[in-house]
Amino acid sequence: MSLTRCASLVLLAAVLMLGCASNGGHVDPVNATRALPQIQSYLAEHPNPKITVALLTGDQLSAKLAEYPACASIKNIKNQSLYFVSFEENQATAIVLLEPSTGQPLCIISNNPVPTQNPPTPVATTIAPSPTKPTATPTATPSPTPAPAVNPVRCTAIQCATTACTVDFSAAPNLADEAQKAAETCEDNAAKIKRKMQSDNHEIIQIKFQQGMQYAGQTTGNLIELSAAYFARQPDDLGAIVHEMAHVYQGYPSGQPSWLTEGIADYIRYWAGYNNSWSYAHCAAALPNYTSGYWCSAAFLQFVEEKYDSNLIPQLNAALRQNKYDDKLFQEYAGKPVDQLWQECRQNNCKTTS
Ligand SMILES: [Zn+2]
Repeated sequence: MSLTRCASLVLLAAVLMLGCASNGGHVDPVNATRALPQIQSYLAEHPNPKITVALLTGDQLSAKLAEYPACASIKNIKNQSLYFVSFEENQATAIVLLEPSTGQPLCIISNNPVPTQNPPTPVATTIAPSPTKPTATPTATPSPTPAPAVNPVRCTAIQCATTACTVDFSAAPNLADEAQKAAETCEDNAAKIKRKMQSDNHEIIQIKFQQGMQYAGQTTGNLIELSAAYFARQPDDLGAIVHEMAHVYQGYPSGQPSWLTEGIADYIRYWAGYNNSWSYAHCAAALPNYTSGYWCSAAFLQFVEEKYDSNLIPQLNAALRQNKYDDKLFQEYAGKPVDQLWQECRQNNCKTTS
């Protein structure tokens, strides 16, 4: 069984705080911020905020800190970069300043009262970019709506099972509902992802909720481990499961470029319809480059596929499985060098239609 695992795990020794969420050494600031209890409290009342992310340094950082006296305690940070993440909805705002390499929140301000006497506690950022509610905002890309389950989900006190998947929640018996949703999500998507990925992996996908995980999800072979703590907080984040299912069907040997491994996994998630207002194929400050992985790489792949080569993903898959991927393949598939394709993507906001 080939080992398929979030490529970022390779970076584990260097970047202990990061998991599938990592971006070559930087956390995903939006997910790190959403994991904070103060922000979750804010989001409970303001579920669809406009989210802004900026990586600030030097004078820009000083100016931003000057706007927020409550963050005075970090004013003496010199020569540093910090992520500034703001949420805004109906005049209600919340802002968080994060240390970029660890995701540690250095200052949190929310005008939504938080029922706690404690100052903001640094929270480990353990979250894979794991957006998504299937009912979320559609993107420009036509995405099939998740189909209703064809095969029934059968659950016991510790496990749910369908034709394609099993979900073991013995380590988190409180997550029976989430286990059932995970089983439905897996069943609804397994066959179509397998087809899209042209995978010959016919084994049942095993999903297991685990305690004490650093990441929202990770995949090894046919085993998808999901963080019980994460899904207790984000029970509707079914796209995280679809992302991991893509890893199952990738079946790449180790050593493939992580931007493509993670970019294709997010591409599949959005293709299957699991995007929302804050996780969809796009490039922004948090993930600015096609090599950043996740949703920015997914946006790039969508762009090239739509504009130049509808068979892009199967061809890339085949090359990656055979350990034959090379940037030059973009020239072969799409007729232009990868850098030129990226420039076009950037210039068009990675949209093929206006
Ligand atoms: Zn991943």
